[in-house]
Amino acid sequence: MQTQHHPLKSATVGTSRSLTSLHYSNGKPGPKVYIQAGLHADENPGMLVLHYLRPLLQAAEDAGQIRGEIVVVPFANPIGLNQTLAMQFHGRFEFGNGQNFNRNYRDLAAMVTPLLEGKLGADADSNVAKIRAAMRSVMAKEKAVNELDSMRLTLQTLACDADIMLDLHCDSEAILHLYIHSDQQEEGAELARYLGSAVTMHAPASNGQPFDESASGPWAALREAFPDAAIPMACFASTVEYRGQKDVSTELATDDAERIFTYLRAQGAVDTGSLPVRPELPREVKDLAATDVIRAPISGIVEYHREPGEMVREGDALVSLIDPLTNDKHTLVSGVDGLFYARNRIRFAHSDMELTFVSGDKVVRSGYLLSAR
Ligand SMILES: [Zn+2]
Repeated sequence: MQTQHHPLKSATVGTSRSLTSLHYSNGKPGPKVYIQAGLHADENPGMLVLHYLRPLLQAAEDAGQIRGEIVVVPFANPIGLNQTLAMQFHGRFEFGNGQNFNRNYRDLAAMVTPLLEGKLGADADSNVAKIRAAMRSVMAKEKAVNELDSMRLTLQTLACDADIMLDLHCDSEAILHLYIHSDQQEEGAELARYLGSAVTMHAPASNGQPFDESASGPWAALREAFPDAAIPMACFASTVEYRGQKDVSTELATDDAERIFTYLRAQGAVDTGSLPVRPELPREVKDLAATDVIRAPISGIVEYHREPGEMVREGDALVSLIDPLTNDKHTLVSGVDGLFYARNRIRFAHSDMELTFVSGDKVVRSGYLLSAR
């Protein structure tokens, strides 16, 4: 395993931060896999998963079993890790400019399109190689304007030419769920099998440029830009939501690490001499636009009536908001039949706060589908 340190552009004189990437390889041909955790710095379950994944990868490398390269970034956000205010940890938005750490990655398709005019043809492998070379070349020329930009640029540069990219996050209170690109539903179902995810949701590009879309989205965009060329979705990317923020435990993380390792064996990134047994798909891939989100129409004390992981029916009471002055109770019901997979951990709602998420079959939303810009 090789360790690389990536200094970030200093925010102020006298301060410096850096990212660290771990590179597992036996110098053999194979896919490039990129896995990071903690991009939202206060989402720590995935960071513990990588703690338990690293020895599995090291043992595989010691046994000469790595095909291609596996890149692990154990913590993707050293800026956010240092953000506390009034004894609370805030790792989702950068204090300096209020931006979400998982938005505004560079639009690689737009950057490489001018370089590829007239160069792509009917050979998909050749096209992938040319596109990746162009991506590496444009990223190498980018100059970061500040510390946050330099963090984004470093992470995206490490991931831009990957075949598989997993970005490990968590929700507020939730069961395991996955986000994938709409053009990669089969690949997403494979990941869901091995990780044991009952909620896998697909969406086309959101325009918010989150990290996962910065890896998979360019391939969809380049297909549209060059309709006559053979361009596969060469990078499968997923945001893996490892349950809720408090679900940081040895039992969960060791099992999750073993599941990722088994998935990597199934994908040919690790060759232990045999393929793993392919698990059942817990539940089919759903449209993210079929997720019913209840937002608080009024402020109040939050009283939940159901737990994440429960199947619910349209009209079932999920949450009530209680006005402590009038003592009125306002109960809100599910708009769909589906799997209740996430809810807000905060128990006092301000108006318009997102409260509950139910993944169903009926499209009920349109427009911008990501939470908390
Ligand atoms: Zn997150």
